[in-house]
Amino acid sequence: MSIAKNVSTVRRKIAEACARAGRDAAGVLLLPVSKGHSAEALEEMAAQGLRIFGENKVQEAKVKIPQCSSRLQWHMIGHLQSNKARDAVQLFTMIQSIDSLALAEEVNKWAEKLGKHVPVLLEVNTAGEASKYGFGPETIPVEEINALSRLEIQGLMTIAPYTNTPERVRPYFRKLRELKDACSDQLGAPLPHLSMGMSGDFEIALEEGAMIIRLGTALFGPRSYGKKTAD
Ligand SMILES: *Cc1c(COP(=O)(O)O)cnc(C)c1O
Repeated sequence: MSIAKNVSTVRRKIAEACARAGRDAAGVLLLPVSKGHSAEALEEMAAQGLRIFGENKVQEAKVKIPQCSSRLQWHMIGHLQSNKARDAVQLFTMIQSIDSLALAEEVNKWAEKLGKHVPVLLEVNTAGEASKYGFGPETIPVEEINALSRLEIQGLMTIAPYTNTPERVRPYFRKLRELKDACSDQLGAPLPHLSMGMSGDFEIALEEGAMIIRLGTALFGPRSYGKKTAD
């Protein structure tokens, strides 16, 4: 399967899911997740009209981003260690994975030093999985983070539990939407983004209101970390 074909299949599924939910598909950001894929594969994806990419490791992004066209933009979607906050502020136009107040403070500190403002999403561990990062649904420090002058909270992000039955994760997506509405009320300002849905569950996420869907495998095919592929 070629990248062009994958993109058109995904776009059709997005349109269908949005139609089922009575939403406008034009408002959805399709974020290709390029971890584990080369700069060449990325350029092929960019040729399909996709300009913003997601990476989950600073280390990998730091090597890859300079190899790619400067018209591309990047979102950080993986767990960020505080000692990489400086690099993250320099490399990414959005950090989707703010998962602690200490990290938010560190990012804010570097944003100030580097003269930047950083759009962020707060990551929520909606299913309470021990293996995942993110705030508990009851303990999102939205006001404390909102008080950090260099961070601009644009919404929430979650990674649903892995499942072969996507319908099972619908309650977690619904929960994130409700939490976003509660955070908007708390801040007295609308939050535009809900980042939820990956290759296995993005159609359900769209039905539940996802504004950013993060797709790796569905767009690029399988990742092959550290392996040489035959083709
Ligand atoms: C890898 C990754 C994705 C994409 O995963 P696929 O299942 O390949 O679509 C999405 N979000 C995050 C945070 C990831 O690390």
